[in-house]
This record gives sequence, structure tokens and C-alpha cells, in this order.
Amino acid sequence: MKVKFANSKLAKNINNIQKTNDNTVSENKKLLSNVKKEQDNYKNKLKNRKVAYLTFDDGPSNHTEKILNILDENNVHATFFVNGKPELTKEYKAIVKQGSILANHTYSHDYKTVYSSPENFKKDIEKLDKFLENLTGEKPSHVIRYPGGSNNTISHSYGGPDIMKRVLPYMKKAGYKHFDWTVDSRDAEKFRQATDVIINSVLTQSKSTKNAVILMHDLNPKTTTVEALPTVIKGLKEQGFTFDVLTKDSPDASFVKMN
Ligand SMILES: [Zn+2]
Repeated sequence: MKVKFANSKLAKNINNIQKTNDNTVSENKKLLSNVKKEQDNYKNKLKNRKVAYLTFDDGPSNHTEKILNILDENNVHATFFVNGKPELTKEYKAIVKQGSILANHTYSHDYKTVYSSPENFKKDIEKLDKFLENLTGEKPSHVIRYPGGSNNTISHSYGGPDIMKRVLPYMKKAGYKHFDWTVDSRDAEKFRQATDVIINSVLTQSKSTKNAVILMHDLNPKTTTVEALPTVIKGLKEQGFTFDVLTKDSPDASFVKMN
């Protein structure tokens, strides 16, 4: 009888182990399915993520500090496509200190100089890279914006009708990535655009994109751009946008298709 008892105890133990195994398997299955669900949620969130990139061209200016204060108050950062202005060294440093990004809009912004040839365009870009690196100690981001945009035709007068077709691949090969814009604040259409027009232009155009690369200008006459900025940021936040700065890894925003 003792043997039988032992056997039945053994049988019970085996049974228990089997049950525990079954439970573990079903628990693992549940865990795995939860992980998959979370991954799908995350992927969807990434896909539906609305990101706004505030960009300021042609700076720095007398308004740069004011713009940085507004960004700070709203806990966001921007990308400044600057030019070479040796008299404004404080402003470049302030941009970096605030956590915003210095990007390259050529040193001279002079169409005649930069669009005379691909080599001269690169020289002007490198001149600003060096100037900024000496000033801030930061390595160049290799993020650029073409004066007039990648599809501008003003350049044709200086470098011929195919100048952009030659400059674009040349700069890409040199390791630079350019960004145009998907949202135009229209602050360049007039010497001083109406504040309302700037606010409405941004907040209307941003409704039709998840990748809002917003063109604004940091220039002395552009007082209304500064005035519009707090309302622009607030409106974008209400539309569900988060804010980021442009890096070489940011999604493309180019008027000209690049292969
Ligand atoms: Zn410009």
C-alpha cells in the first residue's frame, strides 16, 4: 500500500506541476499579447505624432533674445537658420544656451555669391560653419536651408538655369541635409506683415500636416513675427503638436525631390 500511496502522491505532484506549467504558459501568452498591444499603440502614436518645427531664417537680430525668452516661457525650442553677423556674437551663444539649434543659411545670404557655382555655395556654408564653431564650440549640425528655398529661380541669374540641379546633389554628397518648409507664416511677404495674418497663416496651414516645418524670420523689421509667436505656439499646442528641432534625422521637407 505504501507504494500505491507514493504513486498517487507522485501522480498528484505531476498533476500540480502540469497545472503550474499550464498557468505559466497562459500567463506568458497574456504578457506577450500585452507587449504586442503596447508596441502597436506606440507605433500608432509615432505614426500619428504631430511635430512642429519652428524655424527662424536670416538671424540673429535685435529680436533674437526676445524670441528665445518666448520659447523659454513656453518650454519649446526652435531651429535658427542663421547668417554670418560678427557684430551679434552674444545672440548666437544665447541660441545654443537656450537649447535651440543653430542651422546654416549661408554666411553671406548673397545670391550672387552663393549661387555662382556649387563650389562657391559650399565655401559660403563652410565659412559659416567655421564661424559658428569658433564662437560656440559646437560641431556644425550640417542642417542647411537654401536662401530662397531649394526650388528658387533667382539663382538662375547667377549660376545658370541648372544651378540648383547642380548645387543640391553636390551638397548632399558633402553630407549636408536641407530643409524647406511645409508651413509659411507669410512674414516675408511684406516689410512688416500684420500679426493676425502670421497667426492665421500658421494655424490654418498646420491643420493639414503632421510635419509642420514653419518658416518665420528673425530680422529687425519683423516685430510682428515676435508679437505673433506666443499665440502661434499656443495654437499649435491646442492642435496637438509637440515641438522639436531639425536634425539630419528629421523627416524630409523639401520642395525638390531628392533621391
Ligand atoms: Zn533667407
